[in-house]
Amino acid sequence: MSLTKKILIALVLGVITGISLSFAPSDIFSMVDQYALNPVGQLFLNLIMMLVVPIVFVSIVLGAAGLSDPVKLGKIGVQTITFYLVTTAVALTIGVGMGYLLEPGAGGNFNIGDNEYEEQTPPPVMETLINIIPENPIEAMSSGDMLQIIAFAIFIGVALAVLGDKTKRIHHLFEEANGILLYLVNLVMKTAPYGAFALIASALGDAGLDALGSMAMYMLAVILGLVLHGAITYSLAIWGLGKGNPLTFYKGFFPAMSVAFSTSSSSATLPVSMRMAQEKLGVKKSISSFVQPLGATINMDGTGIMQAVATVFISQVYAIDLGLTDIIMVILTATLASIGTAGVPGVGLVMLAMVLNQVGLPTEGIALIIGVDRLLDMLRTSLNITGDATCAYIISEREKRIDKETTYTE
Ligand code: ASP
Repeated sequence: MSLTKKILIALVLGVITGISLSFAPSDIFSMVDQYALNPVGQLFLNLIMMLVVPIVFVSIVLGAAGLSDPVKLGKIGVQTITFYLVTTAVALTIGVGMGYLLEPGAGGNFNIGDNEYEEQTPPPVMETLINIIPENPIEAMSSGDMLQIIAFAIFIGVALAVLGDKTKRIHHLFEEANGILLYLVNLVMKTAPYGAFALIASALGDAGLDALGSMAMYMLAVILGLVLHGAITYSLAIWGLGKGNPLTFYKGFFPAMSVAFSTSSSSATLPVSMRMAQEKLGVKKSISSFVQPLGATINMDGTGIMQAVATVFISQVYAIDLGLTDIIMVILTATLASIGTAGVPGVGLVMLAMVLNQVGLPTEGIALIIGVDRLLDMLRTSLNITGDATCAYIISEREKRIDKETTYTE
């Protein structure tokens, strides 16, 4: 049976088991979770997390060394960041639209009296930008600071390209290291169906469905927003800019989306999403290894959709009207907020506090949506990494066309 089929079965079984467990007495769920689901899920999570930092580092070094022309590297950087910013703004607009269309906070009975939400401060954007150059690269790697690792790797890659023959042995060493890491990703992916099953069953069993009630409309608004963005924005981009078939794209990328769904972490899914993009979608290695790790940190369209719906929802629950300027502020702040925060579970809520503050909405409102956030986190993470892969695919296809044209004219 193919890996995709196995993962699909694991997804379905995980959802069924999780929902059934959420109805079981809580001590039975805790037992099953503690001794079976959680250990299996964590083992899988650790296995892929173990590969994230080495893969990002080694593949970006090779990517930058391969794109030996710094101007080309800069061009790809600009295209990537533009694509990320534009799609995030579109995602947020879709989210705001869903919020006003479905009005999730208008009906229903929401208890706003005794909500408490302990705010965490996200890093200021300027500070993140300055800190992109790591003072200490080893520390960046040990703390998994993705932007710093990317910056350091680009420096090493460019140096390898410039020094050429003088450093060919180290270049070769990186290539061999890359081979080892790819082999390990393939090995770890064999355990993905089991890991995904355990993580999904554990998350859904824990979240339960009783929290749903009056939040159903909010969830529907977020989910519809996610589906629309995936089905329309990305499909149009894949077809119009990448000249590819969106269905083939989604079919090839599905295993990565399901790993994102089960781990709720763009960063942890990186080894899998890079491999799927390179092997199944034919994305050039040098492009995938640069565009996707960057995206896992700065591009989170699914998170943006949740934040937009949540902001409108909270404004409706607290009956505070948002003007057009407020809405533009929401879109700007949420786009900027996503730059400074890495793709790990639940980080979207931390960023949401920043957005709410910006337009003067009460952050306690977040307490209302925490209960249903786990499931939405799984879904939006799948969309987040799809956005990164879409960008990598489009840029790679364009590069391939340019390469072809230059070969012809030569
Ligand atoms: N879990 C998301 C990710 O890793 C971020 C979030 O929305 O909380 O992409």
